Amino acid sequence: RAGAKKARATRATRTTAMLSMSSGPATTEGFGSACFKGAVADKYLSKYGESSTLLANGKWTKDMAKADIVAKAVLDWAVENGASVYCHWFQPMGSSGVRHGNSGQVHQSMFNFAEDGTPYYSFTGEQLLQGETDGSSFPNGGMRATHTAGGYLSIDPYSPIFLREDTVFIPAAFVSYNGDALDEKTPLHRATDALDKQTKRMLKAMKYDVGSASVYANIGLEQEIFLTPRHAFYRRPDLQFTGRTITGKFPARGQEMSDHYMAPISRATGAFECMRQIQQECFKMGIPLKTRHREVAPNQYEFAPMFGNAISQVDQNLMIMQVIEEVASEHGLAALLQEKPFAGVNGSGKHNNWSIGTSDGLNLMNPKQVNAKTGNPEIFPLVMAAMVSAVDKHGDLMRAAIASPGNDFRLGAMEAPPAVMSTYLGPSLTEFLNTVKNGSLGEYAPKKKPLEFGSDTLPSIEVPAEDRNRTSPFPYGGNRFEFRAAGSSQNVSLVNTVLNTIAAEAFKIVADRLEAGEKPLAIAQDLLKTHDKCIFNGNGYDPAWPDEAVKRGIWRIDAGCDAINELDSAKNVTLFEGMGIFTAREIQARKSVLLGHYVGSVEMEALTMIDMINQHVIPSVKKADLGNPSKLVDAVKTIKGAVAQIHGTEDEHKAATLARTLRLTTMVAIREIIDEFESRCPPEDWTLATYSELLFFD
Ligand code: ADP
Ligand code: MG
Repeated sequence: RAGAKKARATRATRTTAMLSMSSGPATTEGFGSACFKGAVADKYLSKYGESSTLLANGKWTKDMAKADIVAKAVLDWAVENGASVYCHWFQPMGSSGVRHGNSGQVHQSMFNFAEDGTPYYSFTGEQLLQGETDGSSFPNGGMRATHTAGGYLSIDPYSPIFLREDTVFIPAAFVSYNGDALDEKTPLHRATDALDKQTKRMLKAMKYDVGSASVYANIGLEQEIFLTPRHAFYRRPDLQFTGRTITGKFPARGQEMSDHYMAPISRATGAFECMRQIQQECFKMGIPLKTRHREVAPNQYEFAPMFGNAISQVDQNLMIMQVIEEVASEHGLAALLQEKPFAGVNGSGKHNNWSIGTSDGLNLMNPKQVNAKTGNPEIFPLVMAAMVSAVDKHGDLMRAAIASPGNDFRLGAMEAPPAVMSTYLGPSLTEFLNTVKNGSLGEYAPKKKPLEFGSDTLPSIEVPAEDRNRTSPFPYGGNRFEFRAAGSSQNVSLVNTVLNTIAAEAFKIVADRLEAGEKPLAIAQDLLKTHDKCIFNGNGYDPAWPDEAVKRGIWRIDAGCDAINELDSAKNVTLFEGMGIFTAREIQARKSVLLGHYVGSVEMEALTMIDMINQHVIPSVKKADLGNPSKLVDAVKTIKGAVAQIHGTEDEHKAATLARTLRLTTMVAIREIIDEFESRCPPEDWTLATYSELLFFD
């Protein structure tokens, strides 16, 4: 009853929202007005004799007088835009966006009170630069005792300050009293520093000086989501608590017609207005959310921004996820960010397009550009040989970085690349690297070919000589790699920390050898001979491939929790410590947090399943007289027993392995019993929202 009332209320809200939003064209007006940089920052800094160039590098953060000026300008800007609250905005370790859990923010008013109680605006440089908070309730992996609970925040000058509603968001890094990273951002900065340093060394040894430019990773994140009716969502405890459906009979229709992908964005459901508002809110904050379209599954959608610096892109993606959840609620919808909300249809990923570039616009993954700008055709093949060596050596880390609990149901299930870490380079680049391996270091010039449409009226176009590959976890696409296995709910900091670190190490090895006088050709040949086994241009979904990969000696780790368990292997501690990314203690803590997060996710799912059986399924079965529910009673006992066993297991990896079996074997079998009852139950007696209601509502 309450659900139905709410449904009517939200539908009414949606109609109002539609009327107020659907006027006016989509323009660039207001883009970036809620982001403190460029012309916006100029306007407010000029009052104090400064301009946005002050913000260009982080140096102002080391000078309190300058910081006071920036704080004053930020306060003026905030108040003029109706904001008077600020927060240091950070990313607690292991955070994910399954249910609005991807950032930390304590809101503070930007005013003080005089002795007589009168409020006055005040915001100082010191307040802007740093914060301290009680960090004791965040996971820390044993790095901090409860009595030393402080967590310390420092502004991240790399990522712009922005404003949303009444609040100024100040991107920040979060560490313990000893300086141990407690967040996702700090390691990404360290890995970016390492990449900057080692890339410059390698290029210098190849006679190319980047001058005052800096080197960093550029990424573009494709964010997939589902939209469901909010009233139906409230009738699914599993979606509410865990972000995915644990039961649900599959409806008569799924995605067999292939008629959802790129179809018109639904107006009937409110999805169109919702997506448009999401884009507009992002545009205001300076987030270039260019692309929107429907995805493969019913009511699955995607957003993609214009790529940019990885550190600010990760921040922007976290805000995109927050905006998606919030705006969806205003349109009578619930956005699902989890990787596999529904069995039987595609899940959601977050393709991490990744390249290495310089601040003056050189993309090291673009052969034409590298050859033209550096004048040294030996650089590109060496970069590629180094990348191949990085993937081959550290595929375990790539696998661990994408081991979000929701990916358990995606990887290897014919919709996302398997848990084998190979790379697709395409036939022509592979052929070129083979000639390098065999001793000739020529210039790589990617070919183009004309494409005819078979009618004189339709103009032919030029396309790359290579087709795309979507079955590889890490294909090269002409100017970037695309890490396709990342999960939709993930904070992809760790993903990019790993990519930057393994690239930095590979470049360091190349730089060391060049500086020691070795010839580029010899180094490239050697790297390719040892590591090109991880190049795979075939069909990654071929069931024979995973076994073949193991024969070749490529990293294959099927279980996410096993990959997480490798994080602190001797090889990986050496890598992380050597590159200055994590101390052994920090990486052990991260492993513990991720395993704990996995076990916690499964426990929530298990307990939710018990409640759903007891509170919904058994009563429905009795009411509709569907037969003896004893199998369900037994199932509850089984789940309780398994949870107790997990609780009683000290070793975190063992506990995670037990949890994985409970989730992927035991609970899947129990689901079949429930779904069979659902298939025979009259709709009016079934109290949980069905897949039809959740997926097909337009
Ligand atoms: P696809 O057709 O592969 O789905 P999309 O256009 O949806 O591609 O998304 C591709 C993403 O890759 C976008 O975010 C885009 O900005 C990003 N991208 C393009 N070039 C690069 C590059 N050189 N480095 C990093 N990201 C890139
Ligand atoms: Mg796309």
